[in-house]
Amino acid sequence: MSPPKKRITILGSTGSIGQSSLSVIESLGEDYQLVSAGAHRQWRLLADQARRYHLQKVVITDPKYEKKLKNALVDTDTEVLAGSDHLVDLARDELVDIVVVAVVGAAALPAVLAAAQAGKTLAIANKESLVMAGCLVMPLARQNDATVLPIDSEHSAILQALRAGRRHEVKKVIITCSGGPFLEASSDQIARANLADALNHPTWNMGPKITIDSATLMNKALEIVEARWLFDLDPDQIEVLIHPESIIHSLVEFCDGSVLAQLSPPDMRLPIQFALTYPDRREGPAPLLDLHQIRQLNFQPPDPERFPALRLGFEVARRGGTAGAVLNAANEAAVGAFQEGKISCNQIAELTELSLRKHNSIENPDLPQIMEADRWARREVIDSLKSLPHSAKL
Ligand code: NAD
Ligand code: MG
Repeated sequence: MSPPKKRITILGSTGSIGQSSLSVIESLGEDYQLVSAGAHRQWRLLADQARRYHLQKVVITDPKYEKKLKNALVDTDTEVLAGSDHLVDLARDELVDIVVVAVVGAAALPAVLAAAQAGKTLAIANKESLVMAGCLVMPLARQNDATVLPIDSEHSAILQALRAGRRHEVKKVIITCSGGPFLEASSDQIARANLADALNHPTWNMGPKITIDSATLMNKALEIVEARWLFDLDPDQIEVLIHPESIIHSLVEFCDGSVLAQLSPPDMRLPIQFALTYPDRREGPAPLLDLHQIRQLNFQPPDPERFPALRLGFEVARRGGTAGAVLNAANEAAVGAFQEGKISCNQIAELTELSLRKHNSIENPDLPQIMEADRWARREVIDSLKSLPHSAKL
């Protein structure tokens, strides 16, 4: 008898990771079945996905688009639900084995907690929920036999490299970083960069928020905190290394001096597939590595002067508590302000740091305390924006 199909929901199915996940599921064939999906506003694409994959349920989190989506699917058996609460329903649905979390930002947290509580396999791209509430998500997953598998390429690489040794033999984890579009830029050039400059990533093609995070290196700061929670690391065991080609996705150094790395061309379909097939490996759609072509891999230390966000990642990994929620929420608010042309690129880290400085962290917070820290940090950023001297604004 063939093993039962793995039934999957994708939260954030219309985004970059969501669409790459669909292509991986298609290529995996009949052992894997997409049963439901959720998205925020892109109702047309969500309706196309519902038809193509004969989905049982779809959720549109912005209720403004409920009518349009219902009309588009009126002749199908797909159940249409509207409102963000229903993402939680998809995450704990007994129809589902694997929850792919491809929503951007803090909005994913309730569904992540629900999936962990329901003992699902979480294939999690959404680093923001781990940064803000890794202290709740990971113990909840352990208590309920849920498996948390990273899609983030660096963390997938670490997960793969960790399989080469025992947990107590790990000395440190080295997270690689392309350096983003401003790797060679001066502080002045970064300060003058506009949205198009920040969105011009040299190696990865991703959604807008993570692309901006990659330009400020806030993405790496978030990934330091993400790694701390996912792998239960001491923050002193984490290092960051600039590697512009994005071929080595991260490395693990063991106590005997052996360093294990995971290499592949920069293509998210590979880490997505590894999370779906874990612990097995399958042939897949991601391109193969050709080192004869690449010939050279380069490395350099990160520059904390031009990229102050990095420091914040280490600081928050050490502080723990509600500091993660503040880092994430202040950054989300500041990225929004940058997208709206209200602040310059370098002010994203500045405003985030300002919030962190003012915040009194609560150790071992519960969910209401984390949500309050999130709201507080967003308000702080908005208030700081109002009080910025006019010349400091764009
Ligand atoms: P994206 O902007 O392309 O897609 C975001 C998805 O989230 C969309 O489907 C959108 O409908 C949904 N969404 C947006 N706001 C929402 C809300 N308030 N409630 C519910 N759903 C909402 O983003 P992306 O690049 O696919 O990134 C998704 C997540 O994966 C992020 O957390 C990002 O950090 C992480 N990630 C992405 C990549 C990548 O290559 N794109 C790599 C590593 C990690
Ligand atoms: Mg990453």
